[in-house]
Amino acid sequence: MQIIDGKALSAKYREKLKSEIQSLKSRGVTPGLAVILVGDDPGSQVYVRNKIKACEELGITGFECRYPADTDEKTVIAKIEELNANPDCDGILVQLPLPRHLDERKILSYIDVKKDVDGFSAYQTGLMCLGTPDLLPCTPHGVIELIKSTGVEIAGKNAVVIGRSNIVGKPMFHLLLQNNATVTVCHSKTRDLGSITSKADILVVAIGKAKFVKKEMVKEGAIVIDVGMDRDENGKLCGDVDFEDVKEKCSFITPVPGGVGPMTITMLMSNTVAAANRRPK
Ligand code: NAP
Repeated sequence: MQIIDGKALSAKYREKLKSEIQSLKSRGVTPGLAVILVGDDPGSQVYVRNKIKACEELGITGFECRYPADTDEKTVIAKIEELNANPDCDGILVQLPLPRHLDERKILSYIDVKKDVDGFSAYQTGLMCLGTPDLLPCTPHGVIELIKSTGVEIAGKNAVVIGRSNIVGKPMFHLLLQNNATVTVCHSKTRDLGSITSKADILVVAIGKAKFVKKEMVKEGAIVIDVGMDRDENGKLCGDVDFEDVKEKCSFITPVPGGVGPMTITMLMSNTVAAANRRPK
């Protein structure tokens, strides 16, 4: 079994991004990413901090926009419109989940699709589904890069995704399909889940349940990608896969932390640089 080191792969990508940012700067362009955070959810605070930190390390301007939990819709939308018009801001991200009184879909729909570096808009999702992607959703894109880093060909493989959320499971299906895997998507209504997952050459798990996947559910020699970010019974960060139980059965596996997480942020940086590249020369 080999561990797929998301941190190391991420560092490699970030080196490449640094040189792209240098060449953008030499023509007077500094990429800019705005992160909007409403409320004080502790998980979201950590994610936002990590994103701004990554910006700083790479030389991207980070616009951190924080609002109290009771902020109204109008205020958030006005900020998005201001950022849409700001030529120094190439990417806009609204940290999810938003407080319950805010309509997530409505608010996200105000982001200029060319600045939608999370890739969640109907426009970016549509392009991805058509196989003509522009800004890919960061987590599924990172997962594809992690799988490719193993050197194992995706084409022709039997891939199974557990989870069908709009931000992970569904786009994961499209990206695996575009890489010519034969893909099955499972969810909470799937019957006899283990009989499906145990036929997967590539298993991607994104359900949000700590250590849910056990070795009986995994095919011998499979590539296992764990998207989950959960807490175990002791409050320690862990994934949706029971790593210790599964590790000896698979050929490659991502750890949590240090697998999908760092690649997600790197793909966000990569989208921001791609958006900045569109500025007029
Ligand atoms: P989500 O919106 O809650 O979706 C969970 C999906 O899992 C749903 O489709 C649900 O099915 C399915 N599911 C739940 N229990 C199941 C079961 N027992 N058997 C089969 N399917 C089941 O979650 P998400 O946003 O996709 O996130 C999933 C996990 O990934 C979370 O731990 C999250 O924190 C993590 N995450 C990590 C990153 C990263 O960068 N590392 C990024 C995003 C998310 P139904 O549709 O039928 O309800």
